[in-house]
Amino acid sequence: MLNYTSKEVAERSALRINPAKTCQPVGAMYAALGVYGCMPHSHGSQGCCSYHRTFLTRHFKDPAIAASSSFTEGASVFGGGSNLKTAMRNIFDIYDPKIIAVHTTCLSETIGDDLNAYITDYESKIPEGKYVVHTNTPSYVGSHITGYSNMIAGFIKYLSENTGKKNGKMALIPGFVNPGDMREMKRIAKLMGVDYTMLPDTSGVMDAPMTTHYEMYPKGGTTVEEIQDLGNCEMSLALGEIACDMPADVLEKKCKVPYETLALPIGVEYTDKYIMALNEFSKTEVPYALEEERGQLMDIMLDSNQYSNGKTCAIYGDPDTVLGITQLACEIGMVPKYVITGTPGSLFEKRANAILEKFGIEGSTVKANSDLFEMHQWIKNDPVDVMIGGSYGKAIARAEDIPLVRAGFPILDRYVHSYMPIVGYKGAMRLVELILTAIMDRMDRDCADEDFEVVM
Ligand code: SF4
Repeated sequence: MLNYTSKEVAERSALRINPAKTCQPVGAMYAALGVYGCMPHSHGSQGCCSYHRTFLTRHFKDPAIAASSSFTEGASVFGGGSNLKTAMRNIFDIYDPKIIAVHTTCLSETIGDDLNAYITDYESKIPEGKYVVHTNTPSYVGSHITGYSNMIAGFIKYLSENTGKKNGKMALIPGFVNPGDMREMKRIAKLMGVDYTMLPDTSGVMDAPMTTHYEMYPKGGTTVEEIQDLGNCEMSLALGEIACDMPADVLEKKCKVPYETLALPIGVEYTDKYIMALNEFSKTEVPYALEEERGQLMDIMLDSNQYSNGKTCAIYGDPDTVLGITQLACEIGMVPKYVITGTPGSLFEKRANAILEKFGIEGSTVKANSDLFEMHQWIKNDPVDVMIGGSYGKAIARAEDIPLVRAGFPILDRYVHSYMPIVGYKGAMRLVELILTAIMDRMDRDCADEDFEVVM
């Protein structure tokens, strides 16, 4: 690999190499899969749709269903309106979903297709009790996180209604996390006595069990009725400022549901804040089960501090996830030297720098809209003890002989990760275990290299 100087790297402004993100429709498709009976629909070429489905399927190891407008040259020149209308008819006839969630692609955005007009024109032909919603996801803006936010907002804009009668519930909007994380957030909310609706909810969909027959629409997911009723919630809690603040704001503007935004509950402090927000809502005392988990986590962190304290790390991936992992890394005494996301936006840098400042860490490099190539150059100049992020860091970890902890999205070369939470105290325990295992495996290897006897 070429070794560019930091000046040359800094001058590369338009090109991304090995980006720490993917395109908007991937996030929109994932959000749509978190709605029960929903067929995500990609308005563009078949190639885009196939890529997005493959990407999600490779991470979750579960089939990500979606349909496509299948643009050809004609649609690219004259517009994709007739393709979309044919697609809606076929999808309702053949796959019988409750709802179709359409998102755009670069091509349909570039030619300026007016999805609002197409869907309104088709409204009278939508079968009774069925729905079509849409969002715009031009991939030359933002990342899959932007697409995820946009699709959630799309569901709210089309479906949520304030009937004037409150339902006593909290609307939970989770960041772009695995179904295992959504299950953990819900488990904690239940323990805290909170009646909630989570949107989206991919648990039971992207981690559905093996049965004797294929279910196109597995049992999980938020129902259309629940999305409609979101407008009657007492409040909403957005878990992940960068991914979820916007949809919560849309719900407030449309249905007057006040909201609070928190960081993704990764690590001790952020999980404490999540539990305190639930406590504020339900007035239910924190049950012993959660106190016990917190105490166990503290015990683990203290016992193992001699191994994690002072170790440097590079953290990369989705912004809310990276912020949560950075917080946890600092809590166990590590020094996050490089903290990057591929998703653009200055808020990430502001929040990451605030975490580092809080823990008295100086001299780290924090960057949004960055890429793994750039991070690799920094690591070459000044290495770290551990890398934490998705599978695309694997080649860097191998080239620089640095242990890689796989956490976040995408993880394409491992199994089970999407079932196991990294949020909550339980999730923090798992992350700490993964990090410690990476550090201690390396110590064992170094000892073996130097012909030391390992004494346990
Ligand atoms: S053309 Fe755009 S929407 Fe399609 S795969 Fe590429 S970046 Fe994604």
